[in-house]
Amino acid sequence: MNKNCSFFKQKCENGKIYEIDYCFDCDLFPSKIHEQYSKKYEKRNGYNFLDSLNLIKKNGADWFIAEVEEKLKCENCGDTICIHNKLCYSCNRDKLIE
Ligand SMILES: [Zn+2]
Repeated sequence: MNKNCSFFKQKCENGKIYEIDYCFDCDLFPSKIHEQYSKKYEKRNGYNFLDSLNLIKKNGADWFIAEVEEKLKCENCGDTICIHNKLCYSCNRDKLIE
């Protein structure tokens, strides 16, 4: 993990975004910003990133990635389903165009 969150680096309350790998490595986690934006994000995208951060904190990134890959595996072609619209970009392309 060598990539910092492109969204939260602008919102980070204590400026540690370039010193830590995950927001939960910060003393301020979870901050109001996480809680506020995770609710909005979940409402819009059906996905709660604060829950994901807590799962990564608890079980590690490798476990989380394996879980997500399994959960989002397309039953039809085996590719990864989009977490936002629940469509497979490999075999459900027609649906995306509609
Ligand atoms: Zn597919």
